[in-house]
Amino acid sequence: MPQKIANFIDGEFRQSSAKDWITLFDPSTGAEIGLVPCSLVEELNEAVEAAQRAQRQWAQVPVKERVQVLFRLKTILEERTPQLAEVIVQENGKTLAEAKGSILRAVECVEFATSLPQILDNRVLEVSRGVECKLYRYPLGVVAGITPFNFPLMVPLWMVPLAIGCGNAFILKPSEQTPLSALEIAKALQEAGLPRGIFSVVHGAKAVVESICEHPDIRAVGFVGSSKVAKAVYQRASAAGKRVRALGGAKNHLVVVADADEEMTASNVVASVTGCTGQRCMAASVLLAVGEVEHILEKIREKMAALVPGKDLGPMISFGAKERVLGYLEAAEKSDDAKILLDGRKIAPQSEGEGYFLGASIVECQNPQHPLAQEEIFGPVLTVIRCRNLDEALEIENRNPYGNAAAIYTSSGQLAQYFADRASAGMIGVNIGVPVPREPFPFGGWNQSRFGDGDITGWEGLSFWTQAKKITTKWSDQYRSNWMS
Ligand code: NAD
Repeated sequence: MPQKIANFIDGEFRQSSAKDWITLFDPSTGAEIGLVPCSLVEELNEAVEAAQRAQRQWAQVPVKERVQVLFRLKTILEERTPQLAEVIVQENGKTLAEAKGSILRAVECVEFATSLPQILDNRVLEVSRGVECKLYRYPLGVVAGITPFNFPLMVPLWMVPLAIGCGNAFILKPSEQTPLSALEIAKALQEAGLPRGIFSVVHGAKAVVESICEHPDIRAVGFVGSSKVAKAVYQRASAAGKRVRALGGAKNHLVVVADADEEMTASNVVASVTGCTGQRCMAASVLLAVGEVEHILEKIREKMAALVPGKDLGPMISFGAKERVLGYLEAAEKSDDAKILLDGRKIAPQSEGEGYFLGASIVECQNPQHPLAQEEIFGPVLTVIRCRNLDEALEIENRNPYGNAAAIYTSSGQLAQYFADRASAGMIGVNIGVPVPREPFPFGGWNQSRFGDGDITGWEGLSFWTQAKKITTKWSDQYRSNWMS
């Protein structure tokens, strides 16, 4: 019998009384490795009550002292990287190098939050003789984060360090497909000295998410996941009066023009398409080939064909996810508008067991409206569309409903700027296929890739997890000489 996975509430790992449990699979072997509770609303309520009690005290702790917990968290994450990477590999299927990379990135987010005493945007201005306006940022209270499967440690840590560093209590509802890393965060924060109740993990799926969105004592919700769910969470939690920032899915376009460096472009495009087996919101999905770039396409094909599933490529997260990608390849086979240039189904995995492995594929598409060119596939598949010129490529990119990232490969600064000014996406790469902004620059897309105003990390995360209070003061020794008296 697989082990039942615990919630973390009020500083304790607690077994859930859930009636329904979801089986957790190791995507590399297909073996059952745990049971995830669909937690009861009473369990969410317990977490919120404990969070409310603890947050009242926590908000009184000076920010300089609060961030000491984050300094210790950073050290713990660094020291424990090998062990944490194993957890990520087991529950998510990333390669060891990808898992370690995602931890490094998570550590950077913690590092940014340790600088809160210097960057918390408190201001003061003398607005008249003896009269000062001050702006202080206060915590919101109890806040929540709902996260996807694809970066089980990193995405929660986009939110948690800033939110708790700003004085909030945080309730995390991790993906039911990757619940284990969230508990590692709980252990690390506990060891770092975070008071009980300030961080909780409540497992579950749709029902828990809906209860979070409607809970009267949760003030803000950060969401990261697919666009369909992001929109639903945004609507439900906003209707309940909460502050919401919901990041959604993606269909990222990479434009390759003839003056691009062949080797750099090919290696970079392949890394963007196939890193984390294409299960990244920043993954390249559509390559817009402008003009004579056959030599670069051929090099991309060679490099992708050489990737061995089970060695260079981790598995898809689930049997269902693999089936979904296979569905797109089958549709391509039957379509007059599409031609498979590299068939990942024919690349045999180097692995044992029944893991959900799949090789990398390239499909050329004549019709930009084809589902392969329009929908998020979230697997190691590159769709190639040939374009006569950069404006045609931009038109295709602009018409896509998503807008997370877009990139251009060129050696011309002028073309790069032309593209950056016109692409309809929140994060732009020039010769970089995964253009993740580093803190303090915030992470977030446009259009159907984000619901709600603002991004989730960096400067904008800081304002999301706080509310500003404006205080105007004057003192008696000054008031007689003042027009405001
Ligand atoms: P998902 O939307 O299925 O799940 C995300 C979270 O929502 C999970 O915690 C899940 O339990 C919950 N959920 C799922 N269905 C729900 C429903 N019907 N109602 C309420 N809650 C529900 O996403 P996923 O498959 O875990 O992750 C992959 C998706 O996340 C991709 O679309 C990817 O592009 C996106 N993503 C986006 C970003 C970004 O920054 N924009 C980052 C990472 C992943």
